[in-house]
Amino acid sequence: LSSRLSGVLDKLTKQGALSEADVSTALREVRVALLEADVSLAVARNFVTAVQQKATGQAVTKSVTPGQQVVKIVHDELVAVLAGDNPEPGRLRIDSPPAPIMMVGLQGSGKTTTTAKLAKRLSEREGKKVLMASLDTSRPAAMEQLAVLGRQIGVDTLPIVVGQDPVAIAKRAKSQAALGGYDVYLLDTAGRLHVNDELMAEVEAVRDIAKPHETILVVDGLTGQDAVNVAEQFDGRIGISGVVLTRMDGDGRGGAALSMRAVTGKPIKFVGLGEKMDALEEFHPERVAGRILGMGDIVSLVEKARETIEAEEAERMMKRFQKGRFDMNDLAGQLNQMLKLGGMQGIMGMMPGMGKLSKQMEASGFDDRVIKRQIAIINSMTKKERKLPDLMQASRKKRVAAGAGVEVSEVNKLLKMHRQMADMMKKMGKMGKKGMMRGALS
Ligand code: GDP
Ligand code: MG
Repeated sequence: LSSRLSGVLDKLTKQGALSEADVSTALREVRVALLEADVSLAVARNFVTAVQQKATGQAVTKSVTPGQQVVKIVHDELVAVLAGDNPEPGRLRIDSPPAPIMMVGLQGSGKTTTTAKLAKRLSEREGKKVLMASLDTSRPAAMEQLAVLGRQIGVDTLPIVVGQDPVAIAKRAKSQAALGGYDVYLLDTAGRLHVNDELMAEVEAVRDIAKPHETILVVDGLTGQDAVNVAEQFDGRIGISGVVLTRMDGDGRGGAALSMRAVTGKPIKFVGLGEKMDALEEFHPERVAGRILGMGDIVSLVEKARETIEAEEAERMMKRFQKGRFDMNDLAGQLNQMLKLGGMQGIMGMMPGMGKLSKQMEASGFDDRVIKRQIAIINSMTKKERKLPDLMQASRKKRVAAGAGVEVSEVNKLLKMHRQMADMMKKMGKMGKKGMMRGALS
């Protein structure tokens, strides 16, 4: 997008009114942007139509330009469609152990890799006892691949028995999972280069044996129109419960995510961000929306609109800062804002060429988990402590740490960070509005 779209938006700005024609002009460019991001034609068309109806119905907001308003509507709608009714993108349903999870998808989509990544996550983060089984009888190396990954991440795999068909292996996995006291077992089904009847019949037979609690479709996030056909066929015949988009670390803009949501209506649970076993992240709609629209300019435009809309709030904050007031509630607000954007690391990871920087930040321990723990610490403080954190005694720090489930050292770190920020805010406040805005947003 977006020099073209920006140009159109500039024109809108000059007219200063949000007419139906204005919206149409801007949305024509949005449609092109979606297609360039590999969103399927039909999905792009429907999306734009839906936004058109929403946008033209809306009154012009006084504080933003019409162009910014259209972009914001597009962006928010995109986030809404991507998010859907998916309150917990990073969770899989594990009803009663042993819970079967069936992984499906085309060959090369990243099924086996994702199976192992999920197994690692379930075992490490959720403390589940996990068993993996490869049902890929088409290539002997495929089963060995899963066994190797299993050893690497310390997760059990079903012993390989040569000559068994996928259904027999599924049965064996099921009984082994029950006998071995596993919480969950993952079935890595065989793929084909294209969807065909043989593949579907095989997966169907496995499904009927395992009765999976989750059926996860693994799709290459770099494939455009193809991804839609694949999703339609798997969902139609097998029935899927969620999607994992792989290769979102690549250069593509990830339009498949929107197509996937629009066509199947199923939640996107995770995205794959590399070949390594840790390179799996829960799905963040805001990030992917920004990426589909072309990260840099569009999102900054949207941010600008948001800034203007929230200017009053900023004004209020600024007055507080000028008086040297930046308490724990203010800090919690800033941290929540970062989480909403998916954390710094995620934002960076999504930007081409920024992967290295994001890794450095990861190494320095700056990621979503840290932010979440910091928020938990603030939540564990009393009202008074949040206003005057410097008065906290050692015994209170201990209590707060226990309440948040962290070490006392982490509480101290947060208090120190707050002190530094409060000092900075005070200085910025004295420098006036412009300095403050930059400071608060950086
Ligand atoms: P399968 O045939 O569906 O089981 O696919 P595999 O799991 O064997 O993956 C095929 C190739 O894609 C392997 O080289 C993987 O390392 C690679 N791969 C899988 N997921 C990702 C990802 O999220 N990002 C990148 N860059 N490569 C991936
Ligand atoms: Mg495989």
